[in-house]
Amino acid sequence: MSTTGAVSIRGVSKRFGSTLALQILDLEIPPGSFFSLLGPSGCGKTTLLKIVAGLERPDTGTVSADGHEITGRPPERRPFNMVFQNYALFPHMTVADNIGFGLTTGARRERPPDRERRDRVAEMLRLVRLESLSGRYPEPLSALDRNVRFALREELLRIHQELATTFLFVTHDQDEALSISQLVGVMNEGRLEQVADPQAIYRFPATLFTARFIGAGSFFTADVRACGDGRADVDVGERRFSASDAGVAAGGKAQVMLRPEELETAPADQATLSGVVDTCSFFGAHFEISVQTPLGPCRLHVREPRAPGDSLGIRWPDRAGIAYPWEETPSSMDGRTQG
Ligand code: ATP
Repeated sequence: MSTTGAVSIRGVSKRFGSTLALQILDLEIPPGSFFSLLGPSGCGKTTLLKIVAGLERPDTGTVSADGHEITGRPPERRPFNMVFQNYALFPHMTVADNIGFGLTTGARRERPPDRERRDRVAEMLRLVRLESLSGRYPEPLSALDRNVRFALREELLRIHQELATTFLFVTHDQDEALSISQLVGVMNEGRLEQVADPQAIYRFPATLFTARFIGAGSFFTADVRACGDGRADVDVGERRFSASDAGVAAGGKAQVMLRPEELETAPADQATLSGVVDTCSFFGAHFEISVQTPLGPCRLHVREPRAPGDSLGIRWPDRAGIAYPWEETPSSMDGRTQG
């Protein structure tokens, strides 16, 4: 069986008055994939989703499904279903009637006979494991607790596997996006910054924006001495390190990002850096500490708690981190770890 559901977005842009919600954007979503759009509030995720679903028309560009252009088609004539974040359910109808309602709208000649409708409702109830609740009325469930969110995440993955169709998921929760997706598109100001699998997005963010947006990191200002073979020799303070090169130029300035798990604590005589513990937060499997160093704030993961005010030696491995062309820190990023 060939998997269908390839979505191809070419040259799509959208403006609302003076707001450019989407700059010219291309995206290929492979058939059968679980694809998440991730980005800060207002970056254009919902606009792109609505353009795919047919709820917004792009100003330029095309949308195709399995090779057929569908840019001008109304939502009900596209091979997609959209699930809204804010559920739109009728409180006076049962769960089964709410599901069946969608089959009673549209032109009379297109409505399925009662029996077929009942079968399709039963099939949908089975898919989402709600058979036993079909006669209940919907209840508000506005804030899902953590366990319910985890359970729902697993349900989504199970339904994705069972249907073998494409899921396009929109979220600003990066843990959610990284944990369930096969591919993630990171968006910023109406553009796609990077499209890659979750591990690549976390380990090798292509741009400084993605590096800052995903996960936690320590950022150090550096001078680039030499580059070649995908690596950059950078001077941070008095020391020279070899970092992965994300587009820096010899002689220029860089920002070097290290993940908290790349830095280690070390005895004073083996430490590359020393500093004073600022905060210590418990995350179950580890503690995350923020340390003030002469090169700027640093975050690292440790097994045992450290008290604020304690002195700490830190070891920065010779080959760690990624060097990005230096950029001014946008105000929206203030408060994140920026050295
Ligand atoms: P969020 O995570 O907050 O839902 P988003 O990434 O989904 O944000 P969009 O809803 O796509 O972002 O909005 C992108 C930009 O377009 C925002 O600046 C938003 O204010 C603007 N925008 C979206 N829809 C409209 C509209 N119908 N009229 C005017 N501006 C709009």
